[in-house]
Amino acid sequence: MDQAVRFLDLLFDAGLLIQTGVDGLYGRSGAFEDVLNRVDALATRYGADDGAETLRFPPAMSRRAFETSGYLKSFPQLAGTVHSFCGNERDHARLLECLGAGDDWTSGQQATDVVLTPAACYPLYPTLAKRGPLPDDGKLFDLQSYCFRHEPSLDPARMQLFRMREYVRAGTPEQVLAFRETWLKRGEAMIRSLGLPLTIDIANDPFFGRAGKIMASGQRDQGLKFELLVPINSAAEPTACLSFNYHQDHFGKTWGIAMADGATAHTACVGFGLERITLALFKHHGLDVEAWPTPARDVLWG
Ligand code: ATP
Ligand code: ZN
Repeated sequence: MDQAVRFLDLLFDAGLLIQTGVDGLYGRSGAFEDVLNRVDALATRYGADDGAETLRFPPAMSRRAFETSGYLKSFPQLAGTVHSFCGNERDHARLLECLGAGDDWTSGQQATDVVLTPAACYPLYPTLAKRGPLPDDGKLFDLQSYCFRHEPSLDPARMQLFRMREYVRAGTPEQVLAFRETWLKRGEAMIRSLGLPLTIDIANDPFFGRAGKIMASGQRDQGLKFELLVPINSAAEPTACLSFNYHQDHFGKTWGIAMADGATAHTACVGFGLERITLALFKHHGLDVEAWPTPARDVLWG
């Protein structure tokens, strides 16, 4: 963690990230955003010929849909819910009293119909389900969203609010597995073209609790999740910059997404951690983009 904290301090000193007083919640400079947007555009170039439908959702989703998604079963520790003041004038006076006295003013807050988006693909599934059965060749979507995860950390690569670019494939098991294979190769080519060292490994999601340990090992045994890792803080513990997830029929069943023949749709997604790839570039090529190696500059600015 020492190295992570040192890198975070360097990023603050260079003005690339801006402190807010909360670990994992940062402002970004224009230079940081420029690189991040170019990484995003690079992902667009790699997927350009596939005919994906582009959708953009705000960084929040319906609480009802979130409840249905099963997120709270697997990752209650990461969820972020939006609460608001819903009281009368007396309640307001009490709130201000608490605030003035430095007491807890949040107990009167009530859950709204909105929660923060935990992964860019979560708002997609209910939308897809409403459209009815998928065409025979399935569907492909291009998504990007700020995502929230309650995992405060001094590791700059573990933020509470970060952007996830995703391609999501829905279709038969064969279609979605072929999609994942394609993106495993493309993701590797894309990150190599940026001059970054990488490994690809089997992975698991951070499922909560004792039952979560069993789910995590099941996920690994079945090879459902792969990650493309780049050393950002240490060579021994590289950071997942891209994830390749095969959900089998989990979302298909949860939302009732069907193929034209009535079979439950399978889904897979490739997720690009846009801040993480950007941070990996600053880590390996230095904090001054003008001094980056020509091949990486050509790929992003060419
Ligand atoms: P990790 O194992 O590092 O917690 P994850 O497996 O939970 O990551 P996914 O849910 O697969 O990650 O998310 C897709 C991508 O989003 C990841 O590959 C990563 O690049 C990025 N990402 C995930 N969590 C964070 C975070 N806290 N801060 C920045 N980027 C993140
Ligand atoms: Zn996803």
